[in-house]
Amino acid sequence: MLALLIGYWISTSRVKELTGARVYEHKVVYRKKVARFVDENVVSYRGKVFILEKRWRGKRLYVKGEQLAPLLFQMGGNWFWDKGSKGFFRGKSSIRFLMGKVGDGYSITIIAKGGGFKTMRWQDSLAVEVRGLYGKYWKIIGDGDFVSFVRVDQYRKKSVFVIHFGPRAGEYSTHLKGDTLRIRIRRLKLKKAERITVVIDPGHGGRDAGAVSNGYMEKDINLAVALKVAEILRRRGYRVIMTRTRDEYVSLAARARLANRSGAHIFVSIHCNASRDPKASGMETYFLSESRTSHERAVAILENSALRYDIGYVKENEPVGAILGDMLQTLLLERSYTLALSVHSTAVDMGLAKDRGVKQAGFYVLKWVMMPSILVELGFITNRGEAKKLADEGYQKKLARAIALGIEKYLKKQGGR
Ligand SMILES: [Zn+2]
Repeated sequence: MLALLIGYWISTSRVKELTGARVYEHKVVYRKKVARFVDENVVSYRGKVFILEKRWRGKRLYVKGEQLAPLLFQMGGNWFWDKGSKGFFRGKSSIRFLMGKVGDGYSITIIAKGGGFKTMRWQDSLAVEVRGLYGKYWKIIGDGDFVSFVRVDQYRKKSVFVIHFGPRAGEYSTHLKGDTLRIRIRRLKLKKAERITVVIDPGHGGRDAGAVSNGYMEKDINLAVALKVAEILRRRGYRVIMTRTRDEYVSLAARARLANRSGAHIFVSIHCNASRDPKASGMETYFLSESRTSHERAVAILENSALRYDIGYVKENEPVGAILGDMLQTLLLERSYTLALSVHSTAVDMGLAKDRGVKQAGFYVLKWVMMPSILVELGFITNRGEAKKLADEGYQKKLARAIALGIEKYLKKQGGR
């Protein structure tokens, strides 16, 4: 069976360990051990997430001296990887997947005997669940303009294609005829930034001061920096929604609700840290934890009004496949991680604060926001020197510039939408 596996290997000996977390993604098994491929830079193994340094990509992966798994793999013959049971099984390919330019736009055709198509849109992705097996690749590279890439997962007798639209993709329409689903994508006419909404969430406010130390209140610093981030993003053409613009109390539930209803693309919460150790300093950036069960999260995602079901394929009262929910959860986690890394590394690379790393935690607001979301801890208000810096307008401007730049880098990487 290993002959079916080709590709990437990496080593953990120089790999930085991130945090304990399970990540659902393409899994590879070797000697009964499971490694999960998150993206080309990240792998998770036994509940730990590993970030790969550039020089180790394409090398071999060892865990405690044992070579673990190739990370990019391509199935061949009649072997398939089942995401549900995490094992290989034999089957027969029954789906054809075609895509290409048509006139000014782009067309994707999926032909599956027996059909059973379900489609669901989330942000710049369209997930298509279909009966049958697709034997060729787990990742199909698109043209880069209309389609960035398509990821394929198999669940026994079903396959899910997640189509990641590119920067030129505008509205799309789906046409179902017998065993054939055709997706027509039109060229985008609007300027990219006009379509992008960012939620900026200044932590705490009103009767909730957040951390209080050294004569400063966290809520004030959070708001000052958040307003500056919003201003920079607006100047650059983004639509910005703030969960508060003045010193008022807004519940966490209300913040999450506002974000989910806005149809925003990303959510960035801004906070300051506190520690009993007055010497503690530096920046931490969090992305959502998977402390909720995958089922709960899938349900929450499915219930979210920001999702658009394609009427005609999924009736309103029919539950959308759990597989689709699972796919969306994976996307949410991956993108939140990428966003965290982009914002954090931009600030740290500018030499603004000590690097305390990108971490995962179960912050309420991140749990319930159904879009890529992060929480930035700017610095420690309990550290006298850092608190003074955090309250300084010049330093706040620098932080805001770094956060806005990190956000923009992420959005550009995602195809601008
Ligand atoms: Zn806080």
